[in-house]
Amino acid sequence: MSEETITDIRENLRQVRDHMAEHCAAAGRSLSDVTLIAVSKTKPVSMMREAYDAGIRDFGENRVQEILEKYDQMPSDVRWHLIGHLQTNKVKYIVDKVEMIHSVDSVHLAEAISKEAVKKGLRVKILVQVNVAGEETKFGVAPEDAERLVETIRALPGLQIEGLMTVAPYVEDQEDNRDIFAKLCKVILDIREKNHDNINMHVLSMGMTGDYGVAIEEGSTMIRVGTGIFGARNYRIKG
Ligand SMILES: *Cc1c(COP(=O)(O)O)cnc(C)c1O
Repeated sequence: MSEETITDIRENLRQVRDHMAEHCAAAGRSLSDVTLIAVSKTKPVSMMREAYDAGIRDFGENRVQEILEKYDQMPSDVRWHLIGHLQTNKVKYIVDKVEMIHSVDSVHLAEAISKEAVKKGLRVKILVQVNVAGEETKFGVAPEDAERLVETIRALPGLQIEGLMTVAPYVEDQEDNRDIFAKLCKVILDIREKNHDNINMHVLSMGMTGDYGVAIEEGSTMIRVGTGIFGARNYRIKG
């Protein structure tokens, strides 16, 4: 049996959208304030097309190479989100293809994106990745360093800092991540309060399959859902 026949993408999406609506209602938020990004890493284009046909336009990938492989096989109105770690030597392949880069966590990387954006005459939307839980295995700046990074890179040409992103720890009970999401929200509010010119930080990219409900309640504006839409990933089989 192929992966496609055992995963009912349309039904999964219906459930995810229902949950989004429930948690938006619980928090008194509008569903239209939260963008669902379908994380399609390791999954074949055939499955992405099913999600596309069910209305998804935002897709998340964590590898540059995988975006490049899938790019021409998907309709041109797809918005590609790079959600994984980005090496500076790969920046040139991707800046003109992505809607947003969620994983900027150093001045060095921001400068590389800026340089390439200027060269190509683009304005690239970026998020600063914050490692709220301080996990050693995760990328991102410490919460107390986020503002300084924003300050340092905000004047770079060709960049538009849209907000912050975090990858919370894997937990069985999503309540265990509530404080992490609340903290990221506080960080963005603190930065916003300073009212820096040239930045309009309005995106909070937080919440995955296991915890997007709580993330929405704590202010997420972009959730990144993979397993909940496409089923479990098998990293041995190439998508
Ligand atoms: C893989 C991935 C996701 C999606 O994870 P699921 O638990 O499958 O929803 C979200 N964000 C990032 C950064 C990822 O790498």
